Amino acid sequence: MAGETVLVTGGSGYIGGWCIVPLLQQGYTVRTTVRSLSREAEVRARLAAEAPTDKLSFFAADLLSDAGWDEAATGCDYVLHVASPLGVGGATAETLIKPAREGAIRAVRAAIKAGVKRVVLTSSVSATDPPMDAPFGTTDETVWTDPAGKGVSAYAQSKTLAERAAWDLIGREGGATSLAVVNPGLVLGPVLGADYSDSVQVVERLMTGRVPGVPRLGFSLVDVRDVADLHLKAMLAPGAAGQRFIAAHDFRWMAEIAEVLRARLGPKAAKVPTRKVPDLVVRLVSLFDKDLREVTPYLGQKRVFSSAKAQTLLGWRPRPVDETIVDCAESLIAHGLA
Ligand code: NAP
Repeated sequence: MAGETVLVTGGSGYIGGWCIVPLLQQGYTVRTTVRSLSREAEVRARLAAEAPTDKLSFFAADLLSDAGWDEAATGCDYVLHVASPLGVGGATAETLIKPAREGAIRAVRAAIKAGVKRVVLTSSVSATDPPMDAPFGTTDETVWTDPAGKGVSAYAQSKTLAERAAWDLIGREGGATSLAVVNPGLVLGPVLGADYSDSVQVVERLMTGRVPGVPRLGFSLVDVRDVADLHLKAMLAPGAAGQRFIAAHDFRWMAEIAEVLRARLGPKAAKVPTRKVPDLVVRLVSLFDKDLREVTPYLGQKRVFSSAKAQTLLGWRPRPVDETIVDCAESLIAHGLA
């Protein structure tokens, strides 16, 4: 309800920022956490391009430290716990699992202590994945990733362990505070500025020609604005308490994403490669490229995640993914990033 106060953790991030925008537009008072308050001016300016920021305030809190969490949550009606490190750029189990899991516990514990009505945790479809060697059809929220499973990435471990820890804590100590979880697929859509999420690299690398060809990789895509919308729906709907919701729309191979960019952007997509890269070449290059190493187990895998539950229970209506792909590329161009 307008006038209520919502804490969104990780306001400097892609999804965090896009969650703050509709909350401010709808008249909520919004608090956000950043690791250092030195980033306030930059983050506020980025958000101000989309929504009035007079009802937005900043708190310093690091996922790895107890400091700041209680102060940020006290007096809030809801908490959206979005902040967590992503899995590319040489991230390891050590750099991912500890902040994800301990940060989820810190944020949820502070929310319970503050007596907020509901926490919405941003998890991932990486926490709803069947075993890598199992035949893969369409999966849903009933599936849990086995963090000790063969080929499970450090990122998937971090998201699964963090989500489990949040459910356990709410189960033990939640009291009147309920939990709902959003599990997004690969998130694309417009960026708010140069500090965008690693997921946007899928479009950025194609647009800038940073990849010489297109690997046989595919993703269940979703628009960042629709992910934010699902967070808000999960925050408010009485029936969302105690539920996980996959936020993933259509599956697209990278070759199909490249095709959409070329067809819809014409000369602006001149650097988008057309050549397909054989799996063997990707595996060889991945020996020297840590980012690629993370994704090689997924080569050729069509892993589809159903969002039927969010659509049926919460009336969530994600936009067509081709629009998401084009809006992502257009925003990179507008910000001088592609
Ligand atoms: P992002 O733009 O990289 O945002 C990550 C946020 O987490 C940033 O605000 C970052 O702060 C914060 N963070 C990281 N480590 C931290 C720490 N130790 N202490 C405090 N804050 C920390 O990525 P995103 O895509 O928006 O991701 C947000 C959430 O969505 C994450 O939980 C992620 O796992 C989940 N998710 C993302 C995708 C996707 O495709 N993008 C898909 C599924 C789930 P700094 O700015 O200071 O680094």
